[in-house]
Amino acid sequence: MTRTLFLCIKIALVVAVAIWLANRPGAVSIEWLGWRLDNAPVGLLMLVALLVAAAAALIYRFWRFLYRAPESIGRKLQEGRTRRGYKALNQGMLAVAAGDADEAKRWARKAETLLDEPPLTLLISAQAAQLGGDDQAAKRYFTAMLDSEETRFLGLRGLVIQALRDGDDDAALDYARKAQTLRPKTPWVLTTLFELSERGGDLEAADRALKLATRLKALPAADARGKRVALLLERAEQADGQGQRDRALGFARDAHKQAPDSLAAVLLLARLAVAAGRGREAQKVIERTWARTPHAGLAELYRAADGKADALGQVKRMAKLAAAKPHDPESHLAQAEACLVAELWGEARRHIDAAIGDARPSARVCRLMARLEEAENDDTAAARAWLERAGTAPADPTWVCASCGAVAAAWGAHCRVCDSFDSLAWGLPPGLAAPEQPVLDAEVIEDARVKA
Ligand SMILES: [Zn+2]
Repeated sequence: MTRTLFLCIKIALVVAVAIWLANRPGAVSIEWLGWRLDNAPVGLLMLVALLVAAAAALIYRFWRFLYRAPESIGRKLQEGRTRRGYKALNQGMLAVAAGDADEAKRWARKAETLLDEPPLTLLISAQAAQLGGDDQAAKRYFTAMLDSEETRFLGLRGLVIQALRDGDDDAALDYARKAQTLRPKTPWVLTTLFELSERGGDLEAADRALKLATRLKALPAADARGKRVALLLERAEQADGQGQRDRALGFARDAHKQAPDSLAAVLLLARLAVAAGRGREAQKVIERTWARTPHAGLAELYRAADGKADALGQVKRMAKLAAAKPHDPESHLAQAEACLVAELWGEARRHIDAAIGDARPSARVCRLMARLEEAENDDTAAARAWLERAGTAPADPTWVCASCGAVAAAWGAHCRVCDSFDSLAWGLPPGLAAPEQPVLDAEVIEDARVKA
């Protein structure tokens, strides 16, 4: 609206000036290249000069437009390509996040042709290939990323994951070490170095990586402590296997200090101490922890800790140990075993009965009863009945893998079935855990109340 108004004013001004000029008095004569003009009005000539100048200005602008056209058209086209390239990159990332391999690959290819940004397009292409299961292409893209300083670390991460997928731990460890030289404090680098070193048997390197990861809080504190204890126990077992008893004991002591409640740590420390002829140390450790972790294995090691004690002496020692937690079934069973060996039948029976309490006797208790019947009364029929009962009795707790549910007779840093690290815990085998109390719903409670 305003523009139209201005244009009208401009035209009116020009017309007014032209009329005013045309009406000026006076005349001009021109002779030029054989042409002759006489008595031309000055105003008209000035008007013609004005029009010629305007036409020249217009022609110049048009020429400038033509001259610059290719450049500006090229720029516009490039801008369009870049915009479409980034859009393709965006779509590719969304497809990767959504797990759509075909779509991701399509957008990655498009972004690659439209954009001149190798770091970005290589990553998305690698991810798309990885998603689509094209391991060779993924490896190629990740390797290409090593060439640029910007993308080297990301490329190494991709190669670590790729190598782990291929089950090539050595290559993965190699890439992880290279990644560590670039960024030594990155959490995934440290946890990967720990896991791979541990799995590869380089427990010292694993320990170093774990300590650093713990210090940098790359792992939750409880998780880090659990792993550290398991690793120390594994180192203790490894050193013991190599005949380095003192070193083994050192690791076990450290593990026990880190986690005084860890049953696996107490068991290993006591076992190594007994084997090293350090019965008193084993005895002290077991006495100190019995109240928290009473266990048949510990009772057995406690007996072995003083090999010189006779049967009656062992009964006394077990009574002393059991005093730390007198009502625990394990305390009664440990004493029952000692009484059985000392042929104190009545005491043995009393302890077994106390261990059973109101519960159904477990398989282990049934076997103990069978031994008692046989030893005390030579009653093979009763012994056989108890053994039969053991077959259907509730299972005893054992080492159970939290990852796959497999059971093991002894603790180990790795599950023998699924190879998970630090997955064994003492407990009831899966499916045999004590049934929970049925939850009463409101109707049942109401029913009971009415009947009462
Ligand atoms: Zn397992």
